Amino acid sequence: MTETSASMSFGVLALGAVLVLSATPAWGWDDEGHMMVAAVAWDHLGDASRSRVTALLKLNPDYPIWTVDTTLKERDQIAFIRAATWPDAIKSEADYENDGNRPEGPDAGRNIGYADHLQHRYWHFIDLPFSTDGAAVPPPATPNVQTQIHTFTAAIGSHDVSDDIKSYDLVWLEHLVGDAHQPLHATSRFSSSLPLGDRGGNLVALRQTLPRRTSFLLGRYSRDEQNPGSSAGRSRETAGAVAGRSCHRR
Ligand SMILES: [Zn+2]
Repeated sequence: MTETSASMSFGVLALGAVLVLSATPAWGWDDEGHMMVAAVAWDHLGDASRSRVTALLKLNPDYPIWTVDTTLKERDQIAFIRAATWPDAIKSEADYENDGNRPEGPDAGRNIGYADHLQHRYWHFIDLPFSTDGAAVPPPATPNVQTQIHTFTAAIGSHDVSDDIKSYDLVWLEHLVGDAHQPLHATSRFSSSLPLGDRGGNLVALRQTLPRRTSFLLGRYSRDEQNPGSSAGRSRETAGAVAGRSCHRR
């Protein structure tokens, strides 16, 4: 090996080492991402609003779980942060029915508070369509994340809605604002080979060769990754601290 090629090899290795060592970790979006969004929201609430949302959250059946091992000083904040994960949590709770990924029937858009034991998975996203080859695209199904954010915001601000419903709506709103910021929660690609769309990336397979994982679905990637360059460092720290603590589910 010549001195020049050895120097180049060293340079390539050094560059590789820098890239590896400076690679930012993949931050989990799922619970931690939702809690980070909630932590940002909490930082923007005044004392009166914090008291009000705390009173509402106490009506949720999981409030005792959210406040396990918390001190009085931090309890309200941690409950608010953990509440953002509830719409995902009910997907695995036996007393909540999986009514599918597409809205069907009049119950899909109801807003009845905690008497509602449907999972409403179609509230988590909106399939705003686009086509890469001129294929026909359908309008997004309703209700969806956009319609529900409007519905819940209006209900929470209404004088004619019960606290039970406002509590339910608040927990959903905390979660859906996070979902709406996921690009693949807001679009679906249509083409002649995907006449029903790619379901927000769920039908797109990706492949990577390093380190060991070989393939996964794009939709899953979207849920698992978030922008590591986010400026919400303090809120992330708060959410990360909460995520690292025990929160035993039923
Ligand atoms: Zn969601």
